[in-house]
Amino acid sequence: MKFINKLTTYFYKGVPDKDDLESTQRIVVANIFSILGGVITLLMGVTALLNHKPVLATVLLIQSCIYFYAHLIFRNNWFSVPYKYSANLLSISLITLMVYLIYTGGVNGTGPLWIYLVPPVILFFGGLYKGSRNLLLFILFISFQLFYPDPILLATEYSYEFKSRLLYSFISVSLLFAVYEAARQSSYKSVIKISKQFERQAMHDVLSGLLNRRGMMQNLELEYARSKRSQLNTSLVMCDIDYFKKVNDLYGHEKGDEIIKKVGQIFTGELRKQDSIARWGGEEYLFLLPTTTSAQAEILAEKLRQKIQNTTFQSKDRQFNITVSMGIHQFSPFDSIDDAVNSADAKLYQAKSEGRNRWIS
Ligand code: GH3
Ligand code: MG
Ligand code: MG
Repeated sequence: MKFINKLTTYFYKGVPDKDDLESTQRIVVANIFSILGGVITLLMGVTALLNHKPVLATVLLIQSCIYFYAHLIFRNNWFSVPYKYSANLLSISLITLMVYLIYTGGVNGTGPLWIYLVPPVILFFGGLYKGSRNLLLFILFISFQLFYPDPILLATEYSYEFKSRLLYSFISVSLLFAVYEAARQSSYKSVIKISKQFERQAMHDVLSGLLNRRGMMQNLELEYARSKRSQLNTSLVMCDIDYFKKVNDLYGHEKGDEIIKKVGQIFTGELRKQDSIARWGGEEYLFLLPTTTSAQAEILAEKLRQKIQNTTFQSKDRQFNITVSMGIHQFSPFDSIDDAVNSADAKLYQAKSEGRNRWIS
């Protein structure tokens, strides 16, 4: 268990704190690849040494160091974008090694077998477009290397059949991996889209489409911190429809729902872009007004009060009007969010007890 934890920490080195699945995945794979690559090339290097191939052994051992070095980059955060640097380093060194293995044939002509590592690695690190382009360049290069009539590009001899089959199978594997990478990317995109949709749903009220309590709390926390930091004025307005129970009783619950929605739309139409509005309770709305003093909020409240009062609703053959009451509170530096909301709420109750269809600031 302890070993597994250690291994996980090792592979997650360099993963940023932010919640980005895609870059986390890439960094973890880069780490795993650098470790695997480092160990395998180290073993290959030692084998080449035992087979009396000093040049091959040197190349492989240098390669092994490069792979381990790529992990060190994450470990120590040496560069501003360590992932990009490491991924490029790993990709380029893998490709160089493959070209070299094809050139020399490796140990007893087995070197070219390793080229099947190239498609998954290049596509994963480069992404579909850049990866495919790099893969195509690699295919063009090794075709040229294998079939160039002068033996200057090959230090060993392969049969024509071996070279052509190597190339065909390599192209097939590359195509399959490209298709796989495309599918992976598209399912990743749809997962992100769905999770954004869920996030939106969790923050909004279904009936009115306005923010719900949870969504508004998030805005309140952000705005609260901002107004404390920069000492800007921020005001809250708590608004409640008067005698809404009667509206339900007289015109039906469905009409009530329609009114809740319509009132929300009227309010939204009157607010600025930086303001936010939530359905705080049944027929209760909360406005968050950044860079607004209570005096400015009063002007807005009066405008909204008149607008609602002058809006006529229709139910079957009857027309009727409704009114709203509001409580206004300007954030003070000593307020907590709860204090501010409670104070706006208390003023709303005062407006109710003083006769409704009014605001108290
Ligand atoms: P006032 O606020 O002026 O004191 O009177 P009120 O009648 O509005 O008082 P209260 O806040 O007690 O009642 C609110 C009513 O709103 C109670 C409930 O039936 C109704 N209500 C709450 N949520 C909904 C909703 O989603 N749809 C409908 N149609 N009615 C709702
Ligand atoms: Mg009410
Ligand atoms: Mg109410």
